[in-house]
Amino acid sequence: MLEGLMQDYPLTLTHMLERMRTINRDAVVVTLGEHGRTRATFADVAARSDRLAHALRSLGVADGARIGTFAWNNQRHLELYMAVPCSGAVLHTLNIRLAGHQLAYIIRHAEDDLIFVDASLVELLAPLAQELASVRHFIVMGEEEQARAAIAQLPRALHYEELLAAAPDEPFDYPQLAERQAAALCYTSGTTGNPKGVLYSHRSISLHSMASLLRDALGMGREDRVLVVVPMFHANAWGMPHAAALCGADLILPDRFLQAEPLAALIESERPTIMGCVPTIFQDLLRYADTHDCDLASLANAACGGSAVPRALMEAFEERHGVRIFQAWGMTETSPVATYARPAEAGAHDDRYWQARAKQGRALPWVEARIVDADGRALPWDGTSPGELEVRGPWIARHYFREEGSEERFDQGWLRTGDVAVIDSEGFVQITDRAKDVIKSGGEWISSVELENEVMAHPDVIEAAVIAKPDERYDERPLCCVVLRAGVLAERPPEAVAADLVAHLQDRVARWWLPDEFAFVAEVPKTSVGKFDKKELRRRLQEGSLEGRVTTKRPPAAGRADMQEAQAQA
Ligand code: AMP
Repeated sequence: MLEGLMQDYPLTLTHMLERMRTINRDAVVVTLGEHGRTRATFADVAARSDRLAHALRSLGVADGARIGTFAWNNQRHLELYMAVPCSGAVLHTLNIRLAGHQLAYIIRHAEDDLIFVDASLVELLAPLAQELASVRHFIVMGEEEQARAAIAQLPRALHYEELLAAAPDEPFDYPQLAERQAAALCYTSGTTGNPKGVLYSHRSISLHSMASLLRDALGMGREDRVLVVVPMFHANAWGMPHAAALCGADLILPDRFLQAEPLAALIESERPTIMGCVPTIFQDLLRYADTHDCDLASLANAACGGSAVPRALMEAFEERHGVRIFQAWGMTETSPVATYARPAEAGAHDDRYWQARAKQGRALPWVEARIVDADGRALPWDGTSPGELEVRGPWIARHYFREEGSEERFDQGWLRTGDVAVIDSEGFVQITDRAKDVIKSGGEWISSVELENEVMAHPDVIEAAVIAKPDERYDERPLCCVVLRAGVLAERPPEAVAADLVAHLQDRVARWWLPDEFAFVAEVPKTSVGKFDKKELRRRLQEGSLEGRVTTKRPPAAGRADMQEAQAQA
């Protein structure tokens, strides 16, 4: 082999921090707070990150130590995003919405050395503090008065601002890092078994960030202002902070103010061009924007994912508010962005274009995607053969952290995603279900995701989650849990609303997909990262506590074969 003669420049976050200090120094970080907004330049953030790195050293943080964060999206969290990995430790973002026992499990499993916690969140962590033996210090972040009160609730507590004030005001001499070194750790929000740690490397984060800058992905650049609503504790906030550090886009961080009203006000005044969040937040924002006079049109390039993005949501935002939302797919294990749905704009107004927008998208460069059958054989890209989606690439996990026995999640270099999908001839992946959520009726698969999307296109529907209901004849039938617009059930009896929904679905889905039953629920339960919690819905169904159930007329056939038989008889 004749070796190439190019430099082996390591892909590390130190380079990102250096760009924040120099070329991107004037970009701005805005954080929403109780008493208004704070602003800092990237140069300020880099200088404070240096102080933080000094503080970590004085606290004796070892190379590779896990440093926990329990925080909202704010400037201090960003400082940790930079200082911790650049000084050779591992940033471990903890999900603030997990139950206490799950958090305790994760912190013990990771053996976190320090935990940085927002003063506003100390209450959630304090009850666990005594049992977290590996944690040498809890470091409270917040303004003077609030932080003081919070410190009193924790053992071994220090104050972030005091640590920074005591650190030398001079550049930190960062160590030479290897690009394959661990940089960040995030546990999956998996609903089965214990959460598993995904250990990102400097290299994987660097390459993922580069991909975010591509026009066919987030297309982020210096001119952009990026509103990061997706939590910084969930898969590195989809890599947005890193990508902004690299390219010099402004960051707008909403801290704990995630309701539609403060978000809309933030968008109107700060004029972000990019935003990232899950569909439920966009749904809330749409309802708010529809009933209030607000201008959200600066959002030319919002990214949505985490669960399927209803086409109706994207169309409504675009038509009524001039906001463009594009769908991405990924997992904690995939850093997280692996596919992005950006079809060619040429056909921007035809149905094919919108069908493509409603899919999960094409694999980004360096990511490969395939679907396999139960025997592991690759299936054709014909848009109709469903199989388990597998992916591989430089920012896809190859193992979980300290988790022997998880090999079944990996298939000879491919990550088994647990998602069921089809891939069309243009390479667009379309997720039809989580493997554990599939509905098999009369031997045929019904895509709960597609059914939900069609139900959510009805103007009376706010949210819809479809689960399988055991059925004697067909094994399973779809049961559709629906949150209706306020007042709908006061206008019409539930049976009439259910009949309306069936009529609406009639031309949109195969006949055997039509739900036999609806449950008009007050809300769809959500997981800690805002996805529909179907496990909880199934539990309620099983124990008989699922409210508002209405049966519909059974469709003439509940499986394809069954229908062919019915047609033959006719
Ligand atoms: P998490 O690791 O918590 O981010 O969850 C990853 C899972 O979220 C994936 O395996 C999918 O089931 C789901 N998911 C993420 N993005 C999408 C999307 N755009 N459409 C459908 N499901 C999605």
